[in-house]
Amino acid sequence: MDLEKIIFLKYGELSTKKDNRNFFLKVLNNNIKKVLKDAEISYDYGRMFIKVNDDDLANVINKLKNIFGIYEIVIGYSSKKRNEEDICHSLKELLENKEFTTFKVEVKRSDKSFPKDSMTLRKDLGAFILKNLPNKKVDVNNPELIVNVEIRQKEVLIYFDKIKGLGGYPVSCAGKGMLMLSGGIDSPVAGYMAIKRGVKIEAIYFESPPHTSEAALDKVKALAKKLALYNNDIKLHIINFTKIQEAIYQNIPKEYLITIMRRMMYRISGIVASRVNAKIIVNGESIGQVASQTLTSIQVINEIVKIPVIRPVACFDKLEIIDIAKKIGTYDISILPYEDCCTIFVPEHPIINPTRQKCEEYEKLIPYEDMIFETVKNKKTIIITVDDKDDYKDLL
Ligand code: ATP
Ligand code: MG
Repeated sequence: MDLEKIIFLKYGELSTKKDNRNFFLKVLNNNIKKVLKDAEISYDYGRMFIKVNDDDLANVINKLKNIFGIYEIVIGYSSKKRNEEDICHSLKELLENKEFTTFKVEVKRSDKSFPKDSMTLRKDLGAFILKNLPNKKVDVNNPELIVNVEIRQKEVLIYFDKIKGLGGYPVSCAGKGMLMLSGGIDSPVAGYMAIKRGVKIEAIYFESPPHTSEAALDKVKALAKKLALYNNDIKLHIINFTKIQEAIYQNIPKEYLITIMRRMMYRISGIVASRVNAKIIVNGESIGQVASQTLTSIQVINEIVKIPVIRPVACFDKLEIIDIAKKIGTYDISILPYEDCCTIFVPEHPIINPTRQKCEEYEKLIPYEDMIFETVKNKKTIIITVDDKDDYKDLL
């Protein structure tokens, strides 16, 4: 038979892009190539095609399900024989062994030179199925099987099964972002949501050894590895925050500890972001969740960086964030009980209405500029890939 099994992809929101569409498709094509390695891929404005052999099908589909920019994954058949008689022949062959009673036919005719319009062809193909296959019925509202036929310039596509893709934009088409990644529940979700909009994420993690342990770092690596799945690997910048944190602890009034610590984190994140050409900082702050996330706190903390800070989960309830964390597999890692540098020096009553004047006054008490320079100079950067087999795999 001249039918060839094929996977093809529908782009969804991407197809609303006009001038940039070519760029988006190129990025998507590259991202898929990175994941599927030697797959044969071709594309046009409407569809991307991937040739697969049957043995690889499940594996390929599983990988495609984690790639942003894909709206639907379709497993179908392509035939170069495009006249109506051939289409009928193909349909009969494909449907003969399929179990269904009710069906409807959908036709898309992207080749407008095809002699019949889609309405007529749809009716005629439906009539052919009713006549040639026993005990079938048309049900346009709730069919068991939708028989899709697409007439293209050089081929006809026939398909029945569609799998929902992740949607969003292809990773990196929006540029780069610096994710402040803690071991908590919120920041991995925030990272995932930024990746969904096409932002290629690099992550920054602040550790305070010996107050925070190697296991806490492993936990963050494990979270990064989950994000790597969607991000085409991920760079993790590790900042030793101990000296700055101790200086804050020893010199600054307790109620301002967290506010000033977070201003330092923002300063460092801003510097690292601009060094790697990241255009935004992304973090997991959520309005009102804790004292440092009241609107006044956010304002006082935010104002020391020029780079935009995007907070994808700012308006989500914790339960909504947890739902996403579970879906992307980060939740079970996030709830492992390792300390974070934000939690080790928490005062009993952190201020919820800090002022800039007080922050500036207190910050004069520590030589923070030199300390920031030093810690940025000593930062460690690792690349975490999806197939990494590091010791932190035990956490997964
Ligand atoms: P999460 O559950 O993501 O840790 P959280 O509710 O614990 O968030 P905070 O601890 O106040 O909130 O931190 C707010 C955000 O600041 C985090 O979501 C994260 O983006 C960033 N952040 C906090 N601690 C660190 C850290 N040690 N390294 C990097 N970023 C951090
Ligand atoms: Mg936290």
